[in-house]
Formats: sequence, C-alpha cells, structure tokens
Amino acid sequence: MMKISVLDIVHQTMADGPGFRTAIYCAGCDHACPGCHNPQSWNINNGHWMEIDELMEIIKADSMSNVTFTGGDPFCQVDAFTELARRIKAETTKNIWCWTGYTIEEIQADEHLSQMLPYIDTLVDGPFILAQRDTTLLFRGSPNQRIIHLTPVEEDVCPGAVELVKPR
Ligand code: SF4
Repeated sequence: MMKISVLDIVHQTMADGPGFRTAIYCAGCDHACPGCHNPQSWNINNGHWMEIDELMEIIKADSMSNVTFTGGDPFCQVDAFTELARRIKAETTKNIWCWTGYTIEEIQADEHLSQMLPYIDTLVDGPFILAQRDTTLLFRGSPNQRIIHLTPVEEDVCPGAVELVKPR
C-alpha cells in the first residue's frame, strides 16, 4: 500500500491556487533553497505517513474544494503522489495544482518524475531564489517560478502564467 508523508492538510485554503482548495503539504524536499518558507518540510521523516485511501476520503469529503499538492516537493514522493493524482482524476472532477522545486523541463526530461504530469492541471515550477524574492507575485516567491497550465483553463487567473496545453 503506497503512503505519502504529510506535514499538514489545510482545508478550504484560498492561498494555494485559485478558489477553495484542500492543500496537502507533504514532507520531503531535496532542493534546499536558501530562504525557503518551510525548511521543516525538507526531512521526509518530519511528516506522518498517510494512505492514499485516507487522503482520498478527506479530498472527497469537501465537495466544493479543488486540490493542491505542495510541501516540501510532491515530486520527491512522485510514485505515491502520481497514484493519488490518478485517483483524484478517476473519481472526482477536481482540478490539481502542484508546486515543485524542479523546472518543468527537468521533469519532462526524467521518465520517473514525468509520470505525474498527465494528471496535473497547473504546475508552479522552479526553485525559490532568495535574491529575486518578490512578495507581490501571486502564488510564487520569485519570478523565475512559473504558473504553467497543463490543461486548458477558462480564465487565466494569474497574469504572466505560461500556458502549455498538452494533449491528454
Ligand atoms: S522547493 Fe520549495 S520547499 Fe523545497 S527548499 Fe525550495 S522553497 Fe523550500
């Protein structure tokens, strides 16, 4: 049974993507960005292990919220997060936003990491760069980070987002 190391689950947040969202803050991140907002998330052992079924119950229980994967870096637990994302897409109509310290180019170039991309609607990519910190940016800490729509969106809620619409 696959499990995810979870630091926290925030219900009905409006800070982790557009609208109400169930945000899963995972433990585990290898990027070690100086100035990271959440350094306690780096160690995967700082989280508690939750089964995919348990997470699905929590996600499904909130009919009005979409889903966010953040942390930490969900791609550091890519096998289990891919299974969670696959089940969200199979069993709900919710969209998924995912934050990562990898760039999309790094993910696309890696067969193991890229397995999750087909299930993600919007990827916020790239490491946080302290020297470029900008608190006015929506959903990002530094301007190198991009909001990349992998599926079509009705309205670009994030000016400056990069749209890469990929066939499913
Ligand atoms: S990718 Fe995010 S969580 Fe990981 S070190 Fe960088 S800012 Fe922190």
